[in-house]
Formats: sequence, structure tokens, C-alpha cells
Amino acid sequence: MSFGYAIINNMERVQNEIEKFNKERDWDQFHSPENLAKSIAIEAGELLECFQWNNNYNKENVCDELADVFSYCFQLANKLKVNPEEIILNKLEKTRKKYPVEKAKGTSKKYTEL
Ligand SMILES: [Mg+2]
Repeated sequence: MSFGYAIINNMERVQNEIEKFNKERDWDQFHSPENLAKSIAIEAGELLECFQWNNNYNKENVCDELADVFSYCFQLANKLKVNPEEIILNKLEKTRKKYPVEKAKGTSKKYTEL
């Protein structure tokens, strides 16, 4: 089992911890799909900020912001009642078709330019 799949398999525990955290604070009321989507983008901005001006990033800060992004992504998936593993694998299958290996290997071109 690769590292990535191990992460997905432990997501139920993470989901439960996030739910518990929010329930204790009565924060679910603020977590509309729109607010969660905005929060993902905001946290992604904070993640980018870790690399602003140079590449001498602080790994702990990067991990904290990455965790915030993951956390909101999982909360949005939960709110939409979709399984993160399933939607990631479904999207990967779509992307696989857009970027067939024989055309996409070793190039960063967009699928429309392959
Ligand atoms: Mg943050």
C-alpha cells in the first residue's frame, strides 16, 4: 500500500476529529458549502504565502497551511456527502483520459495543446 492510500484510509478518523472539533464549538452553522469553498481558497493563499519572495520556507508553517487546506477540503466533501477517495479517483480517471500517456508523458502542456 502506498503512502497516499494510507492517508485516505485514515481519513475516517480525521473526519471524526474535525466533526467533534466543530461540534464542540458549534461552528457547523458557519460551514455552508460556499463558506467552505471560500475557506479552501483562503487557506491555499496562506499556503502560497509561505513561499512568497523566496524558497526558504518554514516546513512547519507549510504543513500547518496544507493541513488547513486539507481540513476544509474534507469538510466540504462531508457537507456534500461525497467520499473524498471516490471523487479523487473519479477525477483522476477523467484526467487520465484528457492526458493519455502517449501524448502527455514528459510535457506540461495543457490537454487542449497536446
Ligand atoms: Mg491557515
